[in-house]
Formats: sequence, structure tokens, C-alpha cells
Amino acid sequence: MHSIQENKTEPLLSIDDLSVEFISGENVQRAVKNISFTINKGETLALVGESGSGKSVTAHSILRLLPYPLARHPSGKIIYQGKDLLSAAPEYLRKVRGDRIAMIFQEPMSSLNPLHTIEKQINEILMLHKGMNAKQASARTLELLTLVEIKDPAQRMSSYPHELSGGQRQRVMIAMALANEPELLIADEPTTALDVTVQLTILELLKDLQERLGMSILLISHDLNLVRRVAHRVCVMRDGEIVEQASCPQIFKNPQHPYTQELLGAEPSGTPVPHTASDTLLETQDLRVWFPIKKGIFQRTVDYVKAVDGISFSLQRGQTLGVVGESGSGKSTLGLAILRLIHSKGGIFYAGQAIDGLSQKQVRPLRRDIQVVFQDPFGSLSPRMSVSDIIGEGLMLRNKSKPLLLHCMKLTLIQILGTAIPMSFRGGNASELQLLAPWCLSRS
Ligand code: ADP
Ligand code: MG
Repeated sequence: MHSIQENKTEPLLSIDDLSVEFISGENVQRAVKNISFTINKGETLALVGESGSGKSVTAHSILRLLPYPLARHPSGKIIYQGKDLLSAAPEYLRKVRGDRIAMIFQEPMSSLNPLHTIEKQINEILMLHKGMNAKQASARTLELLTLVEIKDPAQRMSSYPHELSGGQRQRVMIAMALANEPELLIADEPTTALDVTVQLTILELLKDLQERLGMSILLISHDLNLVRRVAHRVCVMRDGEIVEQASCPQIFKNPQHPYTQELLGAEPSGTPVPHTASDTLLETQDLRVWFPIKKGIFQRTVDYVKAVDGISFSLQRGQTLGVVGESGSGKSTLGLAILRLIHSKGGIFYAGQAIDGLSQKQVRPLRRDIQVVFQDPFGSLSPRMSVSDIIGEGLMLRNKSKPLLLHCMKLTLIQILGTAIPMSFRGGNASELQLLAPWCLSRS
């Protein structure tokens, strides 16, 4: 058998002079400009650059997943198995997409079906692509979940996506992508939505799988320091161009391009902002959220998961308070309790008023003042509404009687963001939109 090391210079897929343009009415935007790179067999190639630099558009071009004819390629070839994927027949592409090249995304929730168990979703792929019967598929699904190191894989088979943590969902996505034993795995920011410790374990897992299965990985990330441990080579992208490509050690030891140097030094620095306010806006006293664990036919409570257990803090007006901790440590639960979206014990005071005992109806007026921005922007933006409608909904809540003002504000905001529906936003833009919706409520 060949060692993977020996093969690492044999090209699997070559991108040659690729450009991508998006057409919107009169405007043509060139998102990718004449880029060339090769992914070799058995290697991990990292494509790194800030949000909006053209990484995802490049990845989507490989599988022709762009919104053609609104997207077009004024130049370029993507050569795989001697064929140009950009001009290949649809049947060939379909086979490549399903079988040879798999893709995983930043937000697993947008790719997992919330209504089906994990077992059903992975089984379906195996039955469709590998011609397995239900029993064979279940056995293989269990193997795949074991391979991606999910704890208690047999039990997890019957879980629904919402019952899993972010890290577990990403593992399920990887298991799904591996079901077809692809030659190339495209991982588009697979860990961006996860916290630091989980990010590392997922990347280590990808590295381990890549070595064991001998596949190639195109790893997309905005964080150059994160890909350090797993990538063999790195392409640095900026404004649709590749400004530097080199082996991973080379990039870190001797970065050539100023932009690469900037990315390497992109760790946040500086001193905390001084704050002078002494007016307490939010305070909790011994806040607890305990989820009961029920057992037996009478569903008696036998124990509790103490998600939040005795937290007291105060937040001053104009201050930012960071709550930091591992996945599962209770950060989101704390947020939900403050928003009064789940039941909690202990005191919560907002602007001096105790809000922990308020009914849903009494809490409603406070919803304008206490807003939330979620981890997954796509999960909180309806794909069926235009940006104008999403912003408009927030404005309407506050401003029913001023249609002209409403209209003007909507127009201004759309100028900032464009008029697309959320799906055509990239992650960065979607987060901005999410931030703007509550802003509208506070300004109108
Ligand atoms: P990255 O993945 O590096 O964050 P993208 O590849 O998603 O960046 O985006 C590159 C550029 O292409 C951005 O300016 C983005 O707004 C634009 N773009 C991406 N998808 C579309 C689309 N469907 N329609 C119009 N423009 C798009
Ligand atoms: Mg992207």
C-alpha cells in the first residue's frame, strides 16, 4: 500500500485561473479574481482570509453550487479526474457531488433535518448512494458515529438534532459527509460556530480522519492561527485574490505578504475600556436553572442537571460583561433565563425592577429593551422574508402609526445591507443584519 505521504504531491483537483462574478441588475461584482491552486491527494489545504474575501464562493464553484445564471465564471477551469467541472454534464456533476466530493458547513443546523433522528438521516444517504438495506445502513451509521467519536453512539442514533450540542452536531455532519467515503472533503468554516476548546477537538478529529482514510481536505477558515496544526499547505485570500500560498510551516515561519503578517498578528490586544457609569442596569442574585431528570413509569424526578447554579452578577449601564466558558457550561441557559424564556429561581433585576416573577404578558414590554443576538445568524433569520421585511417587522412593532418614517428608515437600512434575502448573505453580513434588527427597535 502507498503511504499517504508519498502521494501528497499528486494533484487531485486543480483550480486554474478561476473567476466568479455576480450579476445584480446593472451591477457586476467580481467576487473571485483569477485564482489558481491545486489540492493534492491526501493533503489538507487551508484557504484562509477574512469574511467576504471569496472563500465560500470558491468552494461553491467546485461543486457548481452558485446561483447560476446570477453567478458566472468569466474565466477558469476546475480539473478533476481529467474533466473540467465547470463545463461537465449535469449527470457527472451529480455523481461527483454525492459520491466523490462532500461538503460540510459552518451551521450544522441548516443542513440537518430537525424532524428526523440522526440514524434516519445518515441511513438515508447510505441506502440511496451505497444501495444498503435498512439493517446494513444502521450498522454502518453506528460505525460512522463511532468513527467521529460521538459519546454513546448507540444511544445518539435515536436523538434529534436539537438534542445535541454544537460540537456533537458538527460531528454528525462529518459522519454524514464520510458516509460516501469521499476523496475530497470541503469543510467551510466547520468550527466557527463552536467555542475554542471544541474547535480544536473537531479539527484534530478531521486531521485524524484525513490520515486514516487518506482523503484530501479543503479547509476554509478566517483564522490562520487555527489551521496551523492541521493544514499541510495554506492559500491566503483577500478581496477575491490569493495573495500568498505556501507550505504551512513556511507561512508561519516566514510570511511574505503584509496581509498574511497582519492575519498572523490578528490576536486581539489592548487594554479594557474604562467605564465610569455606576448605575446598575441588570443584576442577578443566586440565579439557578435546574432541569429535572425523570425516570420510571411515574416519571419521578430522580435528580437535576444544574445548568446554572447560584450565579450573582451586576451589569452597569453602558458596560459590556463577558460570560466565558466551555460548551455546555450554562452560558446560553443563563441568557435564556435573563430573557425570561425559561424558568429559573433566584432574583433578576432590570433597571431596579424585579423581573423574575413576571408573567409572560408582563415581560412583553421589556422585550424591546432586552434584545438578543444568537450564535447562528441563519437560524434566527427567516429565509422566506426579504431583508426589508425582516427590518420592517421590528420597526412596525414600535412604530405602527408613522408609516412615512418607517419607510425612510427601511430604505436607509437596505442601502447599508442590500435587498437580498438572508440566504444570499454571507455569515458576516447575516450577523450584521441580526444586530440591526434590535437596533431598529431601539431607534424607532
Ligand atoms: P467568505 O466565504 O470569504 O466570507 P464569500 O465567498 O462568501 O466570502 O463572499 C465573497 C463575496 O461574494 C462577498 O462580497 C459576497 O457578498 C459576495 N457573494 C457571495 N454570494 C453571493 C450571492 N449569492 N450573490 C451575490 N453576491 C454574493
Ligand atoms: Mg464563507
